[in-house]
Amino acid sequence: MSVLTAPASTRVIDLVAESGLTGRGGGSFPVHRKLTAAVGRRPRLVVNACEGEPWSVKDRWIVENDPGPLLAGATALARAVGARRVLLAVHEGSPTHRAAERLDLDGHGIELLGAPGGYVASEASALVSFLDGGPAVPVTHRAPLAVGDRRHPAAVVQNAETVYRVGQLLDRGVDWFRRHGTPDEPGPRFFSLSGAVAGGPRVVEAGAGVGLAELVAAVGGYTEPVRAVLASGWSGSWLGWAEAGLVPWSDEGLRPLGAGVGNGIVHLLPASVCPLVAVGAQLDALARASAGQCGPCLFGLPAVADDWRRLTAGEPGVLDRLRRRLGLLPGRGGCHHPDGAARNAASALRVFADHLPTHAQGGGRSAGRPACPATRGV
Ligand code: SF4
Repeated sequence: MSVLTAPASTRVIDLVAESGLTGRGGGSFPVHRKLTAAVGRRPRLVVNACEGEPWSVKDRWIVENDPGPLLAGATALARAVGARRVLLAVHEGSPTHRAAERLDLDGHGIELLGAPGGYVASEASALVSFLDGGPAVPVTHRAPLAVGDRRHPAAVVQNAETVYRVGQLLDRGVDWFRRHGTPDEPGPRFFSLSGAVAGGPRVVEAGAGVGLAELVAAVGGYTEPVRAVLASGWSGSWLGWAEAGLVPWSDEGLRPLGAGVGNGIVHLLPASVCPLVAVGAQLDALARASAGQCGPCLFGLPAVADDWRRLTAGEPGVLDRLRRRLGLLPGRGGCHHPDGAARNAASALRVFADHLPTHAQGGGRSAGRPACPATRGV
């Protein structure tokens, strides 16, 4: 019986619920809830292996190195929700795309969806828009994607690692799965380590609650002194190097620092890099990546990026305005893109507070010139 004609089954969904598996793409949403909402709607199942974050390489690693559980998980989920189509979404022309072309997708009833590259193009609703013939930009939707509406029929979008974990779960069982991680955040997960690591980004598998020292040791240690750590990539939060090493790397452990594991990116910022320049480059990229449909993206992100440039140049009186603008971004866009940029910038202001004076005019080596001791820009 092919995947597309198999009856819906709740057995897989029950198993996923029992395991406590949450989405590995960043949202940490309970997977079984999305599946349950889609049952009876003949949804499209989209396995999202597009990695918009430049330092995320875990989904690429799965497709290149261990696609078996991914294909098994996709097949099982398709049966569970009664999917009418199953698609593996990759960025067109990416290494993941090339690796996916070598897989036996036809034999598993899976189509390959080559989506345009770009930061917001991998967002779930952007993929659904593209699948339905529209642009690969986030769309506002009153009903959850798994339920669908007239413009966009039901679609279950699951991150590739999430689907891979389902494949492992079916093979090895719930007890095996729950032996990893913490009781509240069970199961193995991938972390992508980049920055001051050799040959990065590198993928490390561990459970939630792992220590930063253990993650860094798994890639052979850091290659130069580290100033700070960015958790969950450009839309994530900055942590000081010392504090990042004192907490368990789980959502619960990182929450007091305003951070979460998210998509598993762990970027070690070298001490030789100016943090303001590094954050500024990310804010510029996030402003450019917006689909320009909503006010916070159209006006807010460019204004914040401009304020950050002025702050870096040592212009006086910028900080208060920047803080005000950051407070206006969260929760006001059609998707969470502006929220991520605000989180990045606000956490950077906290973690790099002791670095700001080196950029203030008057404190420089000569008039108007910052005294930032960093030797590298980005
Ligand atoms: S918030 Fe930005 S990225 Fe999200 S839908 Fe609106 S314009 Fe597009």
